[in-house]
Amino acid sequence: MPEHDVLIIGAGLAGQRAALAAAQAGASVAIVSKVHPVRSHSVAAAGGINAAISVEDDWRSHAYDTVKGSDYLGDQDAIEIMCSEAPGEVMHLEHIGVTFHRNEEGRLDLRAFGGASLKRTAYVADITGQAILHVLYEQLMKRHERVARLEEWFVTSLLLDDSGACAGVVARDVRSGRLEALIARNVILASGGAGQVYHPTTNALIVTGDGIAQAYRAGAPLMDMEMVQYHPTTLVENGLLITEGARGEGAILLNSEGERFMERYAPNKLDLASRDVVSRAEQTEILEGRGAGADKAGIYLDITKVPRKRTLEALREIVNIGRDFAGVDITREPILIRPGQHYIMGGVKTDSNGATPLQGLYAAGEVACVSVHGGNRLGANSLLDTLVFGRRAGEHAAARAQSMPMPEPSTSSRLADEARAIDEIIARPRGGGRRVSEIKAELGQTMNEHVAVYRDQQGLQRALEVVGRLKEESRKAYIDDRGTIFNQDVLGAIELSYMLDCAEATVVAALERKESRGAQFRTDFPARDDERWLEHITITAGPDGPRLGRAPVTITQWQPEERKY
Ligand SMILES: Cc1cc2nc3c(=O)[nH]c(=O)nc-3n(C[C@H](O)[C@H](O)[C@H](O)COP(=O)(O)OP(=O)(O)OC[C@H]3O[C@@H](n4cnc5c(N)ncnc54)[C@H](O)[C@@H]3O)c2cc1C
Repeated sequence: MPEHDVLIIGAGLAGQRAALAAAQAGASVAIVSKVHPVRSHSVAAAGGINAAISVEDDWRSHAYDTVKGSDYLGDQDAIEIMCSEAPGEVMHLEHIGVTFHRNEEGRLDLRAFGGASLKRTAYVADITGQAILHVLYEQLMKRHERVARLEEWFVTSLLLDDSGACAGVVARDVRSGRLEALIARNVILASGGAGQVYHPTTNALIVTGDGIAQAYRAGAPLMDMEMVQYHPTTLVENGLLITEGARGEGAILLNSEGERFMERYAPNKLDLASRDVVSRAEQTEILEGRGAGADKAGIYLDITKVPRKRTLEALREIVNIGRDFAGVDITREPILIRPGQHYIMGGVKTDSNGATPLQGLYAAGEVACVSVHGGNRLGANSLLDTLVFGRRAGEHAAARAQSMPMPEPSTSSRLADEARAIDEIIARPRGGGRRVSEIKAELGQTMNEHVAVYRDQQGLQRALEVVGRLKEESRKAYIDDRGTIFNQDVLGAIELSYMLDCAEATVVAALERKESRGAQFRTDFPARDDERWLEHITITAGPDGPRLGRAPVTITQWQPEERKY
């Protein structure tokens, strides 16, 4: 296996953007993905990408909205970089072929999104992620001489050299079951979020926190892990996402009494307040008995307010989702939704070039915590984050590679150990423990019950106990497939171990933060407390489990204020 300057783990938007940037900077690049790249979760991104490109807009307004959206936990220097580089990034996408929607004058059209002062979300109907991902993939294929693609390779762990720097990864070729050491001067983790820790979630089955756990196990700190976003509009039946673009186009939320309840919670922004605020409002309505549908567990999203022609043109994917997964024609009747897990603001701590405190290791995209989203991410800021910081990580890693020798980590005993560990999972007797899928289901339900929109000490403590027990049980969990070719079962067992590490970090951080900010609402500490908690919580792996720390929040121009929408 050849060695590379830059090895990228993950081929969603962050990974592909990093690969292009590193290749353009002259580096030899390899990009690894456990699924075909265009099946990465980025392909599901619907509503759009934010950039201050209209003449009335200014990147500082975008930055202020992002800071306020983050409940002042986002690092303002990083937010300034993201928002000021956004217009250039979107224009670059347009120039390489992304077919953004245009208005009647022929300019890029913009739609309204939550928490934004004005319309600044560029979009391709409601398939924005798919449109961008496919264009980037074409660009990667064009550069095949510089960018090696390892598609359907599963990374199991990071490799460190004797100095403790990251020097590559161990990966399994999913097709054959063969393990290899991939050596590189720099590794960029772009392996996405951890939505599958929860059930239900809007995230694809492959979003299992692999990179977060791998970095954590290798000694890199995690940050803001308590900040888990619940999206206000996910289908009651199964948690599938109805894009915020629906409300951006004019859809409204109603309780069982037909009341537009957001008037009470966010009189100015109404249904387009930030996601944490809208999700909490919905949950309060449900808890107080004004929910709709069976068990009064839902809220009506009324998309009939949007002209039918516009819905069929600009929101066609959710027309299909409503019909296929809820049996509802959204152009004619309201659909039942509720808050559901969608995104994690936390991840591997990085600086604004994607560098982690672990030498040779970068992270970008949802796996990373720069932190530009702080306590709550604004809709359509994640695609932007993946591209801006994916590019910056790619450029920086390529530059670093120029001045260093190829590392020489010892690999033979590591490969043998990992092969043995995988054989041990495959050999576990059926019935000797629980099934991997049962443990995963209990984890998801527990997190959704106790580590959700509202949290308290007792529930979090309970979640911590369950996660601890599930960790024990996972060591004996058995699988059915004993083969080597495309053994997804064994990968599922490995992913479960990553999810349990992510869950533990989330619960420990949520217990630690004794205040309410952004997505963390503690009913036992309902106020924001800037005196004690205007700080990031970091988590590193210690000998006896997670070790808590703090990191300062960078404030440049926006002092914390009371947050109202
Ligand atoms: C349904 C949905 C709609 C969304 N809509 C929007 C939107 O409109 N606007 C917006 O800004 N954001 C949106 N988001 C959020 C946004 O799409 C994601 O945060 C973003 O796409 C994540 O990109 P990524 O590149 O970090 O990771 P991903 O796209 O998740 O890619 C992760 C990559 O890592 C690889 N990988 C993971 N683990 C391993 C391993 N062990 N070995 C090898 N490879 C591995 C995967 O194969 C994949 O290629 C949406 C999210 C969802 C779920």
